Amino acid sequence: MQADKFNNAMARQKASVDSSIAKADRQRSVLLLLTGDGKGKTTSGFGMVLRALGWGQRVAVVQFIKGTQPSGEELLLRSHFPEVEFFQMGTGFTWDTQNFAADQAAAERTWQEAERLLQDPRLDLLLLDELTYMLAYQFLPAAAVLQALRNRSPSLSVVVTGRGGGSELRALADTVSEVKSLKHAYEAGVQARKGVDY
Ligand code: ATP
Ligand code: MG
Repeated sequence: MQADKFNNAMARQKASVDSSIAKADRQRSVLLLLTGDGKGKTTSGFGMVLRALGWGQRVAVVQFIKGTQPSGEELLLRSHFPEVEFFQMGTGFTWDTQNFAADQAAAERTWQEAERLLQDPRLDLLLLDELTYMLAYQFLPAAAVLQALRNRSPSLSVVVTGRGGGSELRALADTVSEVKSLKHAYEAGVQARKGVDY
């Protein structure tokens, strides 16, 4: 690209960015939904956890699916950030269990922690990892979940991850990103890898 073309393109982009920045004059917390079938939703949520911690903000994490092994993020937060409240649906739903009543009870117990954290005025960021599945499987009443998200502590931003989630949650969220899978190593027979997948 020639220098004058480049400079013109940059000037146009700057004008557009400056005008968007000028328009974004409201300060408030946000609800984010990270969804889609590609890899990168939970890691993005934890990226925001790290980002908020870097600013000395108060953060909490609730995970609605228990994997077969702990994640690196869980190990790091538990060992180095004991001030971060970290809840996991200890027993109950994984892809292996097939017990609706037990799974629903576990989801309800975990949701109680989330509900409490949603009302905590000291918190800045709350990650509700894989919450969408609790709605998809009707382990939690969608109306109550949406209401709790809507009526959260005013200064609290919330990140919800997981596939799907429903149109009402999409409508309520301020920022919705869909991670689209183009390919995944697993499909080529590559095993899940420590530090990459968990
Ligand atoms: P990550 O935790 O890596 O950000 P994710 O939260 O977007 O992934 P989940 O649906 O929660 O995705 O699945 C978590 C696990 O499944 C991770 O080990 C991830 O690598 C793997 N995974 C994610 N997307 C795919 C896919 N399209 N095909 C196969 N495995 C996947
Ligand atoms: Mg995930």
